[in-house]
Amino acid sequence: MSIITSAEAFLIDVPVETVRTDSVQAFLKQETIFVRITTDDGNIGLGYSYTIGTGGTAVLALLRDYLVPKLMGMDSQYVEKVWNEIYYSTRATATGAITSLAVAAIDTAIWDLKCKRTNQSLVIAAGGYRDRVPLYDTEGGWLHLTTEELVFGASESKAKGWLGVKLKVGKADVHEDFERLAAVRAIVGPKMHIMVDANQSMTLAEAKRRAKAFEPLDLFWFEEPLPADDIAGHAALAKFTSIPIAVGETMYSVAQFQQYLHSEAAEIIQVDVARVGGITPWLKVAHLAESFNVKVCPHFLMEIHVSLAAAIPNGLYVEHIPQLRSITHSEIVIESGFALAPKTPGLGIDWNFEDIEKMRIV
Ligand code: MG
Repeated sequence: MSIITSAEAFLIDVPVETVRTDSVQAFLKQETIFVRITTDDGNIGLGYSYTIGTGGTAVLALLRDYLVPKLMGMDSQYVEKVWNEIYYSTRATATGAITSLAVAAIDTAIWDLKCKRTNQSLVIAAGGYRDRVPLYDTEGGWLHLTTEELVFGASESKAKGWLGVKLKVGKADVHEDFERLAAVRAIVGPKMHIMVDANQSMTLAEAKRRAKAFEPLDLFWFEEPLPADDIAGHAALAKFTSIPIAVGETMYSVAQFQQYLHSEAAEIIQVDVARVGGITPWLKVAHLAESFNVKVCPHFLMEIHVSLAAAIPNGLYVEHIPQLRSITHSEIVIESGFALAPKTPGLGIDWNFEDIEKMRIV
């Protein structure tokens, strides 16, 4: 037994480490919602979730008013039971972003406890497939950057031995997108992977037009070309173009991924541990994708996703966007383009609790 005796939720705003823009939005700040759980066997688990600038207080209110009080007296060893009881205690607000983000903060705390109780790293507790995962860089590919800046960023990534770079697309003119991508392809050569991301900004007609224009550049994937709830549109685009279609960062349940995979609308799965509701559903999505012979390249949150992508056989890449450096003592170790899965018991994030307390908003 590992009975939950106390739990609390709180919010801090973590400033962005660099200006990040895409075709529809800017990353304003990382609203980081924490849940801290104490159990009667003397363990403390810290979980977290996030937004990129709005909605964080709604997530916090759901946790404080409804979900966290339900944790009292539950046995934290029963990971699936805790997830199901918490998630389905709020059927009227599920499935949805706010609820999944809230449940993720609890579920990651429950997994932190599980790892600490059994003295295991997350990569081992979650399955244990390998000790490192390749990185691709997103920080050099934001939409506001000039072509010269994109070329510089991609050259830096190549020099560091990284295997891929992601560039935002969705400039008003398809030719401008093409010229930016072509300049990067020219400098990195034929072998480096180039991913592009439209952040759901296009119609099917426009996405087909852009995909056709991009095809000679041998792109590694075309991410979120259409609104995330347009499964039929993504399926039609996947049939139309040879560029693999990547989706997942805007999905909030396992069933949404099942529908995408069943419709052959997703060829790379980008499940986000916070947005899907925690590690428990994240692993279900990853295993589901494996059954469809589809690779997983999680969205953002490299600090936790490196352990999860290393825990599964179909983990392909982790996205390089460091964002927790202002509230951690140390960061993910990178060697020759690979991120190493932390070996410490727990989630493997070296939190700086003093700085976290100082930044606490509510
Ligand atoms: Mg994206």
